[in-house]
Amino acid sequence: MNCPTCLSPLTARLYEGKIRLGQPGTRSAADHVIESCKSCGIAGLDIDPTDYTSDTYRTTVDGNHGVSEFPQIHDWEQASLLGAIGTKGLAGKGVADAGCGGGRFLDLVAGFTGGPTIAIEPTASFHAELKRKGHQTFHSTADAAAEWRNAIDLTVSFDVIEHVDDPVAFVGDLKVLTKPGGRIVVGTPNLDQLLLKLLPMDFGSFFFRQVHRWYFTPRALQLSLERAGLKDIRVRSIQRYDFSNLACWLRDRRPTGNAAIELPKY
Ligand SMILES: [Zn+2]
Repeated sequence: MNCPTCLSPLTARLYEGKIRLGQPGTRSAADHVIESCKSCGIAGLDIDPTDYTSDTYRTTVDGNHGVSEFPQIHDWEQASLLGAIGTKGLAGKGVADAGCGGGRFLDLVAGFTGGPTIAIEPTASFHAELKRKGHQTFHSTADAAAEWRNAIDLTVSFDVIEHVDDPVAFVGDLKVLTKPGGRIVVGTPNLDQLLLKLLPMDFGSFFFRQVHRWYFTPRALQLSLERAGLKDIRVRSIQRYDFSNLACWLRDRRPTGNAAIELPKY
């Protein structure tokens, strides 16, 4: 397997063991190997591609494929995503979300921007609801580009780039949609994180996932975005899980989410 950014072979063995299949607590029957690129730090998992057009993927990762359940699972993170992007200068602007799922980020910004919202989602069962909510809805970035080439002010994609076969080409597709001078925001789990260093096997079997083809350090993401032709790139690490989660991992070796224990206040 070659690095999608540098094209050199992935040769550094990062992890070998069980990986997560879908929801927390699920584990693969077989061991899997994660190898990384010695040059840029991107890591890869050699697995069969996932079909994102059917409901199977959402059933695997969310435990259901229903539009009605999507907000319960994903709403908690939407405000932090908008907070990371910032609200300045969005009035009247067009926003596209590639891999938007049930479209909750677009729901959040639609009333605020007042501009067009473009929902790109391969899972067809989400489309009727996305359209009902007023989002212009497409199956793929290529379909969206037929109407919105170089026309989007802000193109976002959260937790998608780690799934695609060719991350550089994927970002290139986002660039095709985006106006010259517009913004592209790409979010992905951070490979360079403390829990993976503290509990490489326990946290690794939770962090590494059958549906994630690639794992990015901040530097690997920067290089992938550069290779896709983006300019003025800023990579930020955002801690979405709190110290309670870290402490519970160290104590229990399993995820608890945020605020599971009362922490001392100073
Ligand atoms: Zn590389």
